[in-house]
Amino acid sequence: MNKFKRFFTGMRFLVFLVTFLAALIPAGLLSYSFLRLYESKQISTDYSQITSQSKLLANQIASTGYIDDPSQVDFLNAEMTALANAYSGRIMVIDSSLHVVKDTYGAEEGRTIVWTNAVRAARGETSYTVDRKDHAIIVAAPIPNLSYVKDSGQKTANTDSLTNSGTGQKSSQTNIGPYLGVLLTVKSTEYISQNFSFYQDSTWEGLLLTLIFAGLLAFFFSRFLSAPLQKIIERIPKIQDDSEDSLPVKGYRETQEIAVEFNDFKQKMQTIDSSRSEFVSNVSHELKTPLASIKVLADSINSMGDQAPIEMYREFMGDITHEIDRETSIINDLLSLVKMDKSGVSLEIKSMNLNDLMESLLRRLRPLAEKQGVELVMESFRPVVCDVDEVKFTLAIMNLVENGIKYNHEGGWVHVTLNSDYEYCYIKVKDSGMGIPEDSIDHIFERFYRVDKSHSREIGGTGLGLAITWNAIKLHHGEIKVSSILGEGTTFDVRVPLRYIQEENQEEKK
Ligand code: ADP
Repeated sequence: MNKFKRFFTGMRFLVFLVTFLAALIPAGLLSYSFLRLYESKQISTDYSQITSQSKLLANQIASTGYIDDPSQVDFLNAEMTALANAYSGRIMVIDSSLHVVKDTYGAEEGRTIVWTNAVRAARGETSYTVDRKDHAIIVAAPIPNLSYVKDSGQKTANTDSLTNSGTGQKSSQTNIGPYLGVLLTVKSTEYISQNFSFYQDSTWEGLLLTLIFAGLLAFFFSRFLSAPLQKIIERIPKIQDDSEDSLPVKGYRETQEIAVEFNDFKQKMQTIDSSRSEFVSNVSHELKTPLASIKVLADSINSMGDQAPIEMYREFMGDITHEIDRETSIINDLLSLVKMDKSGVSLEIKSMNLNDLMESLLRRLRPLAEKQGVELVMESFRPVVCDVDEVKFTLAIMNLVENGIKYNHEGGWVHVTLNSDYEYCYIKVKDSGMGIPEDSIDHIFERFYRVDKSHSREIGGTGLGLAITWNAIKLHHGEIKVSSILGEGTTFDVRVPLRYIQEENQEEKK
């Protein structure tokens, strides 16, 4: 994303824009309505002033018979001229036939006016119009027929009704109805426009100040709002490259919540990551054991050269095939573990003859024992049939026996016993090896724990074997105990229920 697009699609810009407009728009609208209000207030003041002035003048026109002969009423002509000057405008007297009788400009006299407001005024309706182009307000007011009013005695001349026409006295004025004509007063509104422009200029200045203020406000507000988010954005890459540990829980509530959630998420990811690496180590460890056996078997045959009898070849090749099968099934099992969710490992429980299983397990380890000069003895007290997952259970016991061989000395021994009662099967793996120090006993089932790292590495241990054994026995709902005397040997006691009972929650998950 380029710089501009980044800026314009960012939250900071949006906050800036909203704040800016939120301050500017009301200020603009207020200024506009103030100006309009001022204008309409001035016009309505002018209108009421002109209307009352017009009424006075119209009454004087009516009472003096001005319409019949304007030249005879000099004082009215003078008054109209003075008023027109005062208004910087013009006054027109129009008779009931809409002929202009008097125009203070003198231009329209004798002409007929066909202007809607004049026609309406001839019917008794006072109205006004604002000529924005020429900056003027024009008020059209009726001139009452005073004789008509006096003689009819029923209606006032100022009523709008024309229904009385012809009902009054037969004077020269009564013949034409309740209104003698129209008085048109034009007042210049130039001063309103001037004041308007003056106020408009001031408003523009005010708006400019508002614009600057709103801009500054929007700038700082958007910076203030986006700062905690910006900090989070800046820190995330640092956390990714491990130069920082976690997001600081700062800022406003939402950013604090984001930081807490992010830190939790990171913690979870780290846990997943470390368990993934552990898993990888587990995998390599488990794959190593069959390979080691295969190598020992192959080396044994090789070392014998042509001397080896064909039966021995067959037996060793059979064992090698068996190891390969075991390796394959471990790989398959581990692959299926990958697909499993956190709820755990699915077990393939089968009712197995443990005597056979133990025999075959020891047979596989015998080459290793022989190589180490360790005697491997198996003792079984009775036939034992138990519900186990063959691969995982074999793996668990193999790790124990293998350890008994590995952490032993030449001429040492490993005794494996198998027993059972009505409920459990019992497997004991006892060796005459180096033993485990007391302070290490509680840790040996932890992943990667090794009593003597360098020695363990020499032997080829990774510290995972007993952790796998522990997990496998736990999956079978069994128990494992260890007792050891340093320098004398170690005993592992395994107890597993003969009948595997599926846990309720596991069943539900299925
Ligand atoms: P490793 O792959 O190193 O053998 P394990 O998890 O199987 O890992 O064992 C953990 C540690 O416990 C070993 O490194 C070893 O020091 C100690 N240990 C396990 N079994 C025995 C045993 N039978 N005798 C003495 N020490 C043992």
